[in-house]
Amino acid sequence: MSDKLIINVALTGMVPTREQTPHVPLTPAEIAEEARRCRDAGAGIVHLHARDAEGRPTYRRSVYREILRAVRAKCPDIVLCASASGRIFTSFEERSEVLELTDPAPEMASLTLGSLNFANEPSVNSPKMIRDLALKMQERGIVPEWECFELGMIEYSHYLIRHGLLRPPHYCNILLGSLGTLSATPHNLSSAVAALPPGVTWAAAGVGRHQFAANSMAIAMGGHVRVGLEDNLWYDDARTRLASNAEFVERVVQIGRASGREPATPGEARRIIGLTTPSPAPSFCPETNLRRRAGAADGACLTPAESPPPAPSAHRRGTPRRSH
Ligand SMILES: [Zn+2]
Repeated sequence: MSDKLIINVALTGMVPTREQTPHVPLTPAEIAEEARRCRDAGAGIVHLHARDAEGRPTYRRSVYREILRAVRAKCPDIVLCASASGRIFTSFEERSEVLELTDPAPEMASLTLGSLNFANEPSVNSPKMIRDLALKMQERGIVPEWECFELGMIEYSHYLIRHGLLRPPHYCNILLGSLGTLSATPHNLSSAVAALPPGVTWAAAGVGRHQFAANSMAIAMGGHVRVGLEDNLWYDDARTRLASNAEFVERVVQIGRASGREPATPGEARRIIGLTTPSPAPSFCPETNLRRRAGAADGACLTPAESPPPAPSAHRRGTPRRSH
């Protein structure tokens, strides 16, 4: 638990349009300017999606490069997190393009730990896709921003850690209130947090009108928050006023301060999460349970004689939990 509050702001997402709200930043310049406002208001991490010239979602590295450069120019210290979402783009090649960037490189990238339905379409994340994205992030030194919409996704993180596919540092966004997944109740959030592996820095996000409640619960519980127009357009439940990203950040800063929690600067966020000290823990192949050959680009494994299997996980799973 940390007293400082890490605010992760998801500025754009894949869904909001300029027709829905004038506040959603779409171009690299708009995204960078909004990131600066949010940084000034107290955000430590910026979660980025790219849009093309028509405002439609794109996976193109060239657009992400412009965005990352523009944000870095306006906010020299904010933590850069890129989306590798499967909501629209379904191939590994598309989803991993952004992970190739180096100037600047994303420090974190989203990794949804399972498949789910959004209100109108599925987000498919097969075991192979999760493994391939996780390994690519490891290879590039990018820390995954887990996205968990269900208890089962959190349970899966234990498996991924045991098999070396997720390595410290660990950061998890628990997303509540999306139709068809965990609803935004205190019981669900506390169950999700209780199911996390040890040593995970966690944040809660709420979709739509659940954003404020999810953020407030997380602040009270000692967790961190994700806010922003990706998840919610409206400042109030009655939907009388559209919000800007910076206004959302200002509001969680107020709740945090009222609870004795100052916003974490980007540098403090890095220290809390452990972003500057990626673990050299060994990587194990999920099929063979054998240690991977160091530096092998193809992920080749050592032979059984060369590599003992990983020790059983210290944190036991399988404790009966109440169903929802
Ligand atoms: Zn996103």
